[in-house]
Amino acid sequence: MFKQDLIDLSFEQLQEFCALNELPKFRATQLWRWIYCFGLSSFDDMTNIAKSTRNLLNQLSVISRPEITEIQKSKDGTIKWLIKLKDNSEVETVFIPQDDRGTVCLSSQVGCTLNCTFCHTGTQALVRNLTSSEILGQLMLVMDHLDDWPSGKNNRKVTNVVMMGMGEPLLNYKEVSKAIKIMMSDDGISLSRRRITLSTSGIIPMIEKTGSDLGVNLAISLHAVNDELRDKLVPINKKYNLENLIDACRNYPILSNSRRITWEYVMLKDINDTKEDAINLIKLIKGIPSKINLIPFNPWPGSLFQTSTQKNIDIFAKIIMDAGFASPIRKPRGQDIYAACGQLKSETQKVRKSQINKLVPIHSL
Ligand code: SAH
Ligand code: SF4
Repeated sequence: MFKQDLIDLSFEQLQEFCALNELPKFRATQLWRWIYCFGLSSFDDMTNIAKSTRNLLNQLSVISRPEITEIQKSKDGTIKWLIKLKDNSEVETVFIPQDDRGTVCLSSQVGCTLNCTFCHTGTQALVRNLTSSEILGQLMLVMDHLDDWPSGKNNRKVTNVVMMGMGEPLLNYKEVSKAIKIMMSDDGISLSRRRITLSTSGIIPMIEKTGSDLGVNLAISLHAVNDELRDKLVPINKKYNLENLIDACRNYPILSNSRRITWEYVMLKDINDTKEDAINLIKLIKGIPSKINLIPFNPWPGSLFQTSTQKNIDIFAKIIMDAGFASPIRKPRGQDIYAACGQLKSETQKVRKSQINKLVPIHSL
């Protein structure tokens, strides 16, 4: 018999589920708190719900967690989970501990259709959108593992979420936004919108909505400062070019000095790392409240690029700092376990370079 996964329901849907099964309205509030404040995945532990109701809930529904296939721990404390979904496809989730925060990096799709030339995820053959419960499930599984329930406690380990794992979140807006709204719910995991960052390669039509609907921080995978190069590195640029992308960012609804756009810029040796590139980068984003994140290229097996030399990264960074931007170099984390930016790709679905161009996009925009 079909059992409803309660993690797939928004609060309103959970209320409907209760009404449909002749449970009083307050049950939805109780269930929501048990699931998202206390992290329970068994109805039998819900002590303020009568046994007969718990039995009914067990018959009708489940509170799922994705299955873990593998856990890897890096020397620097970064943890990576390989997660198996119901259809056997796999995604990766990463936890990055830092002095002042703990960040979970979530995947939004199995693979990615956008084929950025420097990104491992883009070489994966199978692509599908994750459901809201599969996105949320990654976060809850990390909280389980770190013993980080109840969610509002002091010194919580997971303080920040970044949508920077596998996939392009703005090509799966429906499920991503549903999951983010649940993460932000005051009666649940209650993560502030200021502590959630969504990274996009530049799906312009969805940018305004992300700001007005979710109000989360926006990161843009820029990587090049002219269309000619960006067309090659981030091919979606052919559809959504730099001028329009910058305009969309300038108009991002929640922008202010405390809510800045993050520009991600992967440092590729002899490709995009000259002084001129740095100067043009500053010109391009002039007037937009901004942070710049220089990401040393993380190599992966078969990748065609090299990381810029430390000297070039330092020169590039100095030009940016002299222009008034703070400490822009992102230290690679979890490199030894392939958990760093752009290295994510589940082992089960390797595809040869020659096959990449045959991929069919799942969305026609
Ligand atoms: N698809 C979204 C979010 C996931 S990628 C996006 O592209 O924004 C997270 C970041 O890592 C992006 O800025 C991406 O461009 C960058 N990245 C991809 N491959 C990389 C690599 N091999 N080395 C360093 N950064 C990489
Ligand atoms: Fe997809 Fe982002 Fe990788 Fe580009 S960088 S292929 S958009 S995951």
